Amino acid sequence: MKNELFRQLPKVDILMKNTLLKDLSLTLDYNSFYEIVTKVIDSFRSKIKNSEIESFTEEEIIKDIISLAKKSEERNFKNVVNGTGVILHTNLGRSIFNERVAEKLKAIVTGYSNLEFDLSTGGRGSRYQLLEEIICKVTGAEGAMLVNNNAAAVILCLNEFAKNKKTIVSRGELVEIGGSFRIPEIMELSGTILKEVGTTNKTNIRDYERAIEEDTGVLLKVHTSNYKIIGFTDSVNKNEIAQLGKKNNIITIDDIGSGVLIDYEKYGLSKEPTVQESLKSGINIVTFSGDKMLGGAQCGIIVGKKELIERLKKNPFTRAFRVDKMSIAVMEEIFRYYLDEKKAINEIPVLKMLTEKPEKTNIRAEKLKGLLKERGIETRVIKTEALVGGGAMPDEKIRSYGIAFKNDIHSLEERFRKCETPIIGRTKENMFILDLKAIREEEFQYIVEEAERIIL
Ligand SMILES: *Cc1c(COP(=O)(O)O)cnc(C)c1O
Repeated sequence: MKNELFRQLPKVDILMKNTLLKDLSLTLDYNSFYEIVTKVIDSFRSKIKNSEIESFTEEEIIKDIISLAKKSEERNFKNVVNGTGVILHTNLGRSIFNERVAEKLKAIVTGYSNLEFDLSTGGRGSRYQLLEEIICKVTGAEGAMLVNNNAAAVILCLNEFAKNKKTIVSRGELVEIGGSFRIPEIMELSGTILKEVGTTNKTNIRDYERAIEEDTGVLLKVHTSNYKIIGFTDSVNKNEIAQLGKKNNIITIDDIGSGVLIDYEKYGLSKEPTVQESLKSGINIVTFSGDKMLGGAQCGIIVGKKELIERLKKNPFTRAFRVDKMSIAVMEEIFRYYLDEKKAINEIPVLKMLTEKPEKTNIRAEKLKGLLKERGIETRVIKTEALVGGGAMPDEKIRSYGIAFKNDIHSLEERFRKCETPIIGRTKENMFILDLKAIREEEFQYIVEEAERIIL
């Protein structure tokens, strides 16, 4: 019986010529195709051996081959639909770009560029020169440069200005951001010596003043970003730190994290410190991320006094932390949008989502609900609270709307997550929810099709 079945198994090279597999033979290279067909035949052989099957058809084998070939084409890194309501979701890639920015990126990476070539002299240029002018124009700084991310920006600055010297920082600002970025550890890496002042909830300018010694290199201020101390608190404002630094000839640095360039209070969000305010206060150097509330690419941006920025450019860490051309391509477009606040709000997706009025989110939720209903899928529109994410504005609850599915929510969560383009939502009180805040209308059709496949 088994022997008969073994004999019925098709030969690999003959099966490869089967007309039903013609498409695969054209798209796959010979070796991959051969490997897949062999694998499937082997799996049938072992099923026969273990008496798991008593018969099979060639169609079944072909079906398995096609499905395995499809799987082999799947990528590990791919798009997902973000229905979590967290705009700058660190696990889902933080910031996203519009088509025009993506086109600039595409042009830069599919062709050569003047990354380090001076087009006016025909000689060697510097990647750090490409964006300096526009960043200075937008922020009001004298000098600017980019590195790989904001963590690198902080290490670089402390290494240049406070290596083997002390850096004074408030105990209330020794924060951990995103699991692996701990201010005390980052400072240690840079070669500076941490000098903590004040207490967790209260630090005043005299605490800094008293701590200043011969070997103090930097007064550092860190935006606590992802947590807030409330109640009986006091922290030192930037003006005071800037003045104290100036009086004692010590460099002042402000790590503001998110890189906010716009006053979001106007748009109904809470107050976040802006880069411009920090510079105006007289702080020498300000560092921030490119892909948090700025809405750009992963990079760290350092702005401030021209002579200090020039020193940073020559530090060996700058080479190790250097910013790549893809980030430069994106950031030039992003900063150009910021020349006009309206444009920034309308064209940078992260800013658009942040400032979208709740009524508009509601309309989009109703629309998606309607599209699902047309296919016979019942959902409810519910009020939700979206978050900025990325360790910014931790207590800012942005009014938003989502659609809620009933059914067996845990299997729904998993089945949406396992779609070809995964759809990531959240579960709450027996509901599976897709929050509309970070879902774009061009994704509706796909969501509806997958919901139909999953639920009906
Ligand atoms: C997020 C954050 C960082 C780290 O920035 P990355 O760009 O993720 O390296 C550093 N400092 C503060 C205050 C932050 O909020």
